[in-house]
Amino acid sequence: MKKRLRIFGNILIILIIFIVSTLNYRELRSKHIQSFENYLGNVTSYFDQALSRILLNSIDGTDETKLISQAEIIEQINSEESGDFQKLLEQTIDETMEVFNVLASDLRITVMDETGKVLADSIFPVKELNNHRARPEVWKVISGAKNYSNVRYSDTESAERLYFSARSDHNNMIVRAAVLMDTLIDAKVTITLYALIIGGVSLVIFNLILSLIFKKQDQHQIDLVQALTKIDAGDLTARMEEDRHASVDNRKFVENFNLTISNFEQTFKEMQEGRIWLNAIVNSLMEPLVVVNQELQVVFANKYAKTLFNRNIDPEETPYPFVLLTHDAKLDELCQRVFDSGKTTREEFRLQVTGSYNAFQVMVSPVDVNYVVVLFNDMSYEYEARQLRSSFVANVTHELKTPLTSIRGFVETLRNRNNTTPEQANNFLDIIDVEAVRLERLINDILRLSDIERLSNDSELEDFDLVELVDECLVQLDDQASEKQINLIPSDEPTFLPVKANRDRIKQVLLNLLDNAIKYHRIHGNVWIDMERQGKFVTIKVKDDGYGFDEQSARRVFERFYRVDKSRSRMLGGTGLGLSIVKHIALLYDGEASVKSTPNVGSTFKVILKI
Ligand code: ADP
Repeated sequence: MKKRLRIFGNILIILIIFIVSTLNYRELRSKHIQSFENYLGNVTSYFDQALSRILLNSIDGTDETKLISQAEIIEQINSEESGDFQKLLEQTIDETMEVFNVLASDLRITVMDETGKVLADSIFPVKELNNHRARPEVWKVISGAKNYSNVRYSDTESAERLYFSARSDHNNMIVRAAVLMDTLIDAKVTITLYALIIGGVSLVIFNLILSLIFKKQDQHQIDLVQALTKIDAGDLTARMEEDRHASVDNRKFVENFNLTISNFEQTFKEMQEGRIWLNAIVNSLMEPLVVVNQELQVVFANKYAKTLFNRNIDPEETPYPFVLLTHDAKLDELCQRVFDSGKTTREEFRLQVTGSYNAFQVMVSPVDVNYVVVLFNDMSYEYEARQLRSSFVANVTHELKTPLTSIRGFVETLRNRNNTTPEQANNFLDIIDVEAVRLERLINDILRLSDIERLSNDSELEDFDLVELVDECLVQLDDQASEKQINLIPSDEPTFLPVKANRDRIKQVLLNLLDNAIKYHRIHGNVWIDMERQGKFVTIKVKDDGYGFDEQSARRVFERFYRVDKSRSRMLGGTGLGLSIVKHIALLYDGEASVKSTPNVGSTFKVILKI
């Protein structure tokens, strides 16, 4: 705008100066020509009069008073020798020049006959001059005009002249007077000089005024650019300076600009806060969450996703293919399907995470046409629980089936064999009884275990002495131990260990451990029982020098239905649930159960309880 105005203004000034000076010059020229025309008119008429007078004087013996008619003079002229006449003409020219040269030194007078043939000239010898008929000012007069003026370039003199031709009173002659137009050239130079000076000054003034006018505007623009540069660099506190002296438009602009940036800053702050909140929420999720774009690249991953899938690269800075995170192209297909359908979809996958494979329920939800959110719900525990449940059911079924099959077999045998002796029948009935007892024990253990598993805290707590309870158990197992010549050896200390717990449950722990120590022992041996309190925790240790088992079994003995030696356990009436019950009771009392064992050396079971 400013540049255009400047160019337009400068051109306009130059144009005006040019037009004004041109018009000025034209006006001057026309006035000049007019005054010269008058002057030259005077010259020609003076020449005419002077010629008449000289002619009269030149006629010998003629009485001036008698020669009164024009015709007579002309006749007299025509009767003169041409050489003399020319002299007369030159004399007349000289006289005229003498009179008028005062006004214009460059005056030229030419006398021609009616055909344009030069008879005399004030500057050039007649011989050098050709017929002047073709000159416009001469031709016009030949054609009948009384006089005619014309400005043109003279080839003879190589200069511009104003020519004025007039028909002479002396019938067939034409008198032409001319002046050089040099003064006009000077005027032209002067006018041009003035035009240049005035034009130059005008241009300087115009540009100065323009600069002053636009100075405020320029400052305004500089302020705007500075503010925008700061904002672009992230400084949202940048504002434009409010100038009381600025134009109303500029002031309004600055006000609106600053207000808009303030609103923008506020909105941006809110968005940032929202983003911080959102980040905090998303990153506190204990489930992996990622955002995938249309190119199937991860553009966001929460903390847990980065940890679980072991990828520390920040996808917000460097997006990477989704398949690099999941190592499963089927998840890419799932995302593509969600992009195509626009519907939330759930599917189960087993995905490789740090060190192992985990089961996930993956939910993919569309955000918009460009992004989907992928939420990984870790189902490993549920999956494991499901697996455990189904293997537990399979184990229980198997455990129940064995004694039941045995019972039904002997019942069938008894029913079909008529020749069974009473002794045999009694024997069969004994076996049926043993199997029924095993079945009952098994069912009781299953019920006990599920009972404990359901609880988060034990009920029916009471204060009792643990030493006394151990003694009670030892008495209960005394016969069983004596049968195998096993010494049950309680430690001397402590003699009194008060605890608060469910007495039956703790008794169950002691009985299971002591019973196993006796059961899985050859004839003749020892079982030691030891207790101690450390703060809120009581440790019970049951040590034997029985069969023992290897390290691999040690890791699994607390699993449901796990037996080191299946046939021995079965023969001894084991259900495979005793140690499992011990472990779950320990967990119920915020404790743990563990074992150290060496084959053929013995085992030490340790149970820690918070009681
Ligand atoms: P079970 O009813 O078979 O005894 P448990 O859960 O009590 O079931 O024990 C699991 C298995 O651990 C037993 O089958 C046995 O093989 C082994 N076991 C337990 N206690 C001892 C021990 N003191 N010495 C050697 N083996 C043991």
